[in-house]
Amino acid sequence: MDDHNFGTRNKRGDWAPNGHIEVAPFWAWPPKLMTVLKWLPEYVWPWNAFHMATALLYWFYVVPEVAVMKTLSWGWPLWLYAVNAGAIFVFYGSVELLFYVKRKQGNRFKYNAKFPGEQPSDVFWFKSQNIDNFLRSFFISIPLWTLVEVVFLWVFANGWVPWLSWADNPYYLAFLVAVAPMIHEVHFFFIHRLIHWGPLYRWIHSVHHNSVNPSPWSSLSMHPVEGFLYHAVAFWHLVIPSNPIVAMFQLHIAGFGAVNGHIGFDKLEITEETPLDTHAYAHYLHHKYFEVNYGGDGLIPLDKWFGTWHDGTKDGDVQMQARFQKKKERMNAKTARANS
Ligand SMILES: [Zn+2]
Ligand SMILES: [Zn+2]
Repeated sequence: MDDHNFGTRNKRGDWAPNGHIEVAPFWAWPPKLMTVLKWLPEYVWPWNAFHMATALLYWFYVVPEVAVMKTLSWGWPLWLYAVNAGAIFVFYGSVELLFYVKRKQGNRFKYNAKFPGEQPSDVFWFKSQNIDNFLRSFFISIPLWTLVEVVFLWVFANGWVPWLSWADNPYYLAFLVAVAPMIHEVHFFFIHRLIHWGPLYRWIHSVHHNSVNPSPWSSLSMHPVEGFLYHAVAFWHLVIPSNPIVAMFQLHIAGFGAVNGHIGFDKLEITEETPLDTHAYAHYLHHKYFEVNYGGDGLIPLDKWFGTWHDGTKDGDVQMQARFQKKKERMNAKTARANS
């Protein structure tokens, strides 16, 4: 597949898609009904359908009996950890293997021409982004993901929060499923914005940002505080009346869905004719420029509302530079005041 039909490559070899990242069409005014209808299948397929499928597989084949989950022990949480780690190993690992190790599509559709394996750096454990990211994912973030999972299952099992049944509340629960990706977006935006505040950034979030050129293993490479807060999005289902399957879906949007922003390619060529959109560009720009696109790719356009949106165009660049310039002036004025 020729990526020049979809974007441009600069002198350094970095590829950028044509057009601009668009926020979800239901924010358009006046409303564009047809565009919304066309967008709906894309909202469901393939990513959210995949997260729902894994949530259901877990519920029916992995999650233990309610009676078992009433009591905290080591057995069932370790089992859940093993499944989570195995699933991420296979899912993230196969993207990593095919596109980063075997490089099956070379650097077609790749935002950054370089591969992380080629760039050793002191910021990483063992000077390797891959090893550092891998160890942090499996020994920090996935245990914390599992912790969140165990806590909400334990709370549901003990009946300490409402457990709505599908038979009695089909419309309400279907609605919750439909808005779960939006809950994710809002939760992620605010915790992410918070840990970009100077002191918290240096303490917590800089770990994730060491990967300026992310690959799938970077997705869950986080400081423990971030690893916990990120997956804690599932706890919203202990606050709003819900059902553990919806909470599991919410958790999988976070855990499995983290890969979306970090694939590094705009499209994965599943076959020569069928490219898979990764929706990675907005978050790639976040890793590149740090202070843009704190949320996802515009499902709830919080970045637009807070003035930190970068839509991937030259115009987005100009707006970002103007914002940085203003910030610099504010800082300079502050220092001048402090010195006078
Ligand atoms: Zn990231
Ligand atoms: Zn960040």
